[in-house]
Amino acid sequence: MISDELREAHVSMRDRLFDAGLLIPSGIDGLYGRSADFEKVVAGLKRAVGALGAPDGPVEIEFPPMIPRVTFDRLGYMRNFPQLCGPVFSFRGGEREFSSLLHSLDEGEPYDHHLSQSEVALSPACCYSVYPTQSGQQLDQARVFQTAQYCFRHEPSPDPMRLQAFRQIENIVLGLPDRVLDWREQWLERAPVLLTDLGLQVRSDVANDQFFGRAGRLMSMSQREQQLKIEFLVPVFGEDAPTACASINYHQDHFGELFDIRTSDGELAHSSCIGFGLERCTVALFAAHGTEIRNWPHAVRDCLWP
Ligand code: AMP
Ligand code: ZN
Repeated sequence: MISDELREAHVSMRDRLFDAGLLIPSGIDGLYGRSADFEKVVAGLKRAVGALGAPDGPVEIEFPPMIPRVTFDRLGYMRNFPQLCGPVFSFRGGEREFSSLLHSLDEGEPYDHHLSQSEVALSPACCYSVYPTQSGQQLDQARVFQTAQYCFRHEPSPDPMRLQAFRQIENIVLGLPDRVLDWREQWLERAPVLLTDLGLQVRSDVANDQFFGRAGRLMSMSQREQQLKIEFLVPVFGEDAPTACASINYHQDHFGELFDIRTSDGELAHSSCIGFGLERCTVALFAAHGTEIRNWPHAVRDCLWP
């Protein structure tokens, strides 16, 4: 539960972004349009993250904001995060079923029982599209990827940094454990340098995902104990409630095993990813430097648009 004070801070920041025309309301919490200035910052952030990761020579790929349902199921997303997920449902009936759908629509009744699950789900994280592309492969050396796309998580909130539809830019590595851990070390240094150069106050901390239910709490605890997730926190709403603007996950051989990806020695590949929340970083920048980009410090503008 969040305090009334924090909720007010969220609403006031959200309304400030609405009033400045940077975010455009839709009537649904966490689903907004973005202005050209907002997108200019997002583009600058993508460029800056791309420049940071460039020495690793990542393969750059783009995916749609959806994944096949078989991948979604294999990832266990519905088991782990049923509260966040977005499987896509559509109408598959014939004339008779259509009549009854129309009846429900005419009566203003719920119509979900007329729909059935399709072969796709909204993607909750952009690295999920990458692992299946390596399925069944043996990697002769570490592979690094960069990808950015819209993600969906059903977590409606007035907090303008917690969206239902948001973008991440992720860098992902697959390879031998030592190589993956070295790569993670590098990003643990790089990420705070970038956020600091952007004039943001940042600290890192060990974190965990919100796995659902009793079994989920054990998974969260184990993830935390093993320090598998580290977040870069920016105190936009105060030191007591900082927001993760980026996070690094070390998956050990989890995805190697799920998708049968192996290294040159025949062992399961390890993997790690770093994701920057593009809207989170953008909102943090508007909060820190004001809603007029032209008044931002020169150093920050140079970092985004050199
Ligand atoms: P995660 O996969 O949870 O580690 O998320 C990676 C990054 O995406 C986080 O560090 C955030 O910056 C961003 N992110 C996660 N959830 C949201 C959300 N609901 N709204 C906006 N950004 C988010
Ligand atoms: Zn990821």
